[in-house]
Amino acid sequence: MKIRFIGTGNMGNPMAVNLVKAGHQLTVHDLRREAATNLLEMGAEWADSPKAAAAGNEVVFTSLPVPRDVEAVVQAENGILEGAVNGSIYVDLSTNSPTVVRRLHELCAEKGVIVLDAPVSGGVYGAAAATLAVMVGGDEAVFNRIKPTLDAIGTHVVYCGPIGSGAICKICNNLMSMGTGVLLAEALTLGVRAGVDLAILADVIANSSGGSRRLTEKFPRFLFQGNFEPGFATALAAKDVRLATDLGREYGIPMELSNLVDQRHVEAMFRGWGHEDSDAVARI
Ligand code: NAD
Repeated sequence: MKIRFIGTGNMGNPMAVNLVKAGHQLTVHDLRREAATNLLEMGAEWADSPKAAAAGNEVVFTSLPVPRDVEAVVQAENGILEGAVNGSIYVDLSTNSPTVVRRLHELCAEKGVIVLDAPVSGGVYGAAAATLAVMVGGDEAVFNRIKPTLDAIGTHVVYCGPIGSGAICKICNNLMSMGTGVLLAEALTLGVRAGVDLAILADVIANSSGGSRRLTEKFPRFLFQGNFEPGFATALAAKDVRLATDLGREYGIPMELSNLVDQRHVEAMFRGWGHEDSDAVARI
């Protein structure tokens, strides 16, 4: 299949690599051409703008940092909407706001462009290994058409419901991951200061009721190595927690603890760690 892929950063690049490996013909675009060098070497074509990337009756993927980037790539001058034609399928793999996704879905529908939200989980290692969880919202028949393609990037591709449902699942998941990260940092600091070796403490918790992937998969690759090269940038983690607390306000859900997690991420940003991996938040 001919696929257009916009945003070949930490996540987009390995996902695009796996789509090429699965036999798809890719055209790629990013603000930074160097972010696509390996893909061009693998035979992908380069497009100078989202409009050029989206031209023709194709499937377009985006993997972009924050909601306003997605809005810009879709709606701005030389955006996807200018290039895509009636019947195109546009799949947003970014962690986006369900409200923004729903608005873009309506806007694109005016031009006959079908939107699915399909945020992913599993980090850069999962993206490279094609073992991501992919949470899809939108028209179910379109999901069924696109699922074989999504199977090239993930091993848990799930239809979540109408447009925005994937984004909601992803935001709830990341709130758990970031909240767990904050609480783990406190628990591990407590245990070590009170006299237990970190490796023993981490092993015991990992094999007990307090265990989590944050402890067994993320921390060993980043925090425990003193490795704060993203991975998953603190600025993006802060964005995701804020998407959750904003959604809580929109729906009138009391989220006292989540707002503490939000503020812990604000503090990490204030300390200048936005570009570092999100495990940097544990340093507080
Ligand atoms: P990233 O910053 O590494 O990559 C984003 C890419 O988009 C960059 O290469 C950037 O140059 C490009 N870009 C930004 N604005 C653009 C524009 N207007 N036009 C074209 N290209 C543009 O970010 P990432 O870590 O790959 O994350 C991408 C999305 O995936 C985010 O929404 C993030 O929350 C989500 N996500 C990240 C991870 C992770 O572990 N990194 C895991 C799951 C989900």
